[in-house]
Amino acid sequence: MSLTDDQQAEIDAQRVVSHATHRATVPALEALLFQPIPLLDHGFIRVIDYMGDDGAIVQAARVSYGRGTRRVLEDTALIRYLMRHWHTTPFEMCEIKYHVKLPIFVARQWIRHRMASVNEYSGRYSVLDREFYIPAPEHLAAQSEANRQGRGAVLAGEEAAEVLALLRDDAARNYDHYAQMLNETADGAIVHEGRQGLARELARMNLTLNTYTQWYWKADLHNLLHFCALRAHPHAQYEIRVYAEAMLETLKAWVPATYQAFRDYRLGAATFSAPMLAVLKRMLAGEHVEQEGSFLSKREFAEMMDFLAR
Ligand SMILES: Cc1cc2nc3c(=O)[nH]c(=O)nc-3n(C[C@H](O)[C@H](O)[C@H](O)COP(=O)(O)OP(=O)(O)OC[C@H]3O[C@@H](n4cnc5c(N)ncnc54)[C@H](O)[C@@H]3O)c2cc1C
Repeated sequence: MSLTDDQQAEIDAQRVVSHATHRATVPALEALLFQPIPLLDHGFIRVIDYMGDDGAIVQAARVSYGRGTRRVLEDTALIRYLMRHWHTTPFEMCEIKYHVKLPIFVARQWIRHRMASVNEYSGRYSVLDREFYIPAPEHLAAQSEANRQGRGAVLAGEEAAEVLALLRDDAARNYDHYAQMLNETADGAIVHEGRQGLARELARMNLTLNTYTQWYWKADLHNLLHFCALRAHPHAQYEIRVYAEAMLETLKAWVPATYQAFRDYRLGAATFSAPMLAVLKRMLAGEHVEQEGSFLSKREFAEMMDFLAR
């Protein structure tokens, strides 16, 4: 991750300012506020703002006049009950806003999550930075044979070196052509006097998908948890998963009771269909159940055995 001196100075300046408020604040999240958490080679997330805490969820659930807080244990039990029974609106009472720097191909996956507010850096208005995501060698993997949406073994030797060189060269060459078409540098200086330069909104179409973009992304806690459940999942692509996992760490600081309930009742939980439950009951009764005769498809049976680590 590379911040310019000016960007770092802006963050530092924000971090020394404090505001008096009657609203709930969370010291552990205040400690993280504005600070970039580096991800991939040039990306980051940083928390810009937030509203509410674990107490706000309890307060909304009880529709109380004050903070709604009883004893910590009672509040935690209520949050766990709400999570366990798929209540949603109390969690929507909390909101968080992130600044995210991410490769464009990750942004395309991320933007599918519609229940959020997004404002992206404008490639029509500004020149994009010369920054591309190049996977670390251990993440340069072959197509998975078992999963069409996944990766298999890590590429090695000459093949890995060749792929890395192609990724670097193509991104650099396309960016150079972008700059050439614009006829200006990132800080607005004209390259060749007498040339008009192509509009930024057109020149950008030449950039590779590993070019970094940035956005502000704001969601309520319910939708953020949904995002994390899908994107911190092992089936999600590594490059978006690292962002979801970093967001989970910010959740741990912000709403620790909700975070733990989420780990227990979503991330660490499994959903069994009615036919799966029937198989489970037979297994608990001591029967050896094979896929044939289980009334489950091969895939469903395999998924179930995977859940049960059998
Ligand atoms: C591992 C993985 C693989 C994927 N592969 C593909 C793929 O190959 N191709 C592809 O196109 N997408 C793919 N997706 C994207 C996926 O289908 C969803 O679009 C994405 O995860 C956003 O989920 P969402 O709609 O639940 O979230 P959000 O858009 O944030 O919506 C949250 C919830 O709000 C409700 N909601 C939102 N909008 C509507 C609406 N219009 N009508 C009714 N209810 C609504 C739904 O309950 C929804 O779950 C993949 C996602 C994952 C995690």
